[in-house]
Amino acid sequence: MRIDVVSIFPTIFDALEVSLLGKARQSGLLDVRVHDLRDYTHDRHRTVDDTPYGGGAGMVMKPGPWGEALDDVARDAEAAPVIVFPSPAGERFTQKIARELSTEQHLVFGCGRYEGIDERVFDYAADLGRVRLLSLGDYVLNGGEVAVMAMVEAIGRLIPGVVGNPESLVEESHEDGLLEYPSFTKPASWRGREVPPVLLSGNHGAVATWRREQQLERTRERRPDLLAD
Ligand code: SAM
Repeated sequence: MRIDVVSIFPTIFDALEVSLLGKARQSGLLDVRVHDLRDYTHDRHRTVDDTPYGGGAGMVMKPGPWGEALDDVARDAEAAPVIVFPSPAGERFTQKIARELSTEQHLVFGCGRYEGIDERVFDYAADLGRVRLLSLGDYVLNGGEVAVMAMVEAIGRLIPGVVGNPESLVEESHEDGLLEYPSFTKPASWRGREVPPVLLSGNHGAVATWRREQQLERTRERRPDLLAD
């Protein structure tokens, strides 16, 4: 999969060079290209923002540099990419969306800053690819970079070959709409706290039943909204 990220803080994405995604990049499973939005400006100050029409606080990202950046990274591709703009005003990013996006050939991420990006850029991007505005959650970050890091990690680990044992992806929280059951490792007794005896029983059926019950109990307790869904 090819991933292009456009940001005014490209070095934030150096973190994608480590761990499983770093290995996936080295092995060629993932081709991540990070671009500095300021490289698409033409003034001495490399300006990417301006005051909002209609007044109000803060600055808005200018359409010009975004248009040139998108022309460069989205037009250059063989097939039309999915173009993701992280936004607190977008659709909530979920495991289901991560799965959908993990099957794409090419993703482009545009990281907003300040009060966000001039609205016309989203409309223009729709001429180049399939646009999605995705929110990490119901809170506001300073910029899209942290949201894109989270999305790239959630999507990247679902690409076949990135995570060594694919079975470990199947039993996770949100894969079947529930939270995952609790996990334990050795020793069986630690600081007066015992591992549930069923997990030591060797009875696979009983373990599976216990885990399912735990999934339901946890989800009911912590995320009843998931059961309602
Ligand atoms: N004025 C915008 C609003 O109220 O919807 C918020 C702008 S925010 C300060 C700057 C940028 O951070 C956004 O353009 C977006 O790229 C990113 N961002 C902030 N919160 C986010 C969230 N919850 N999910 C995804 N991206 C977010």
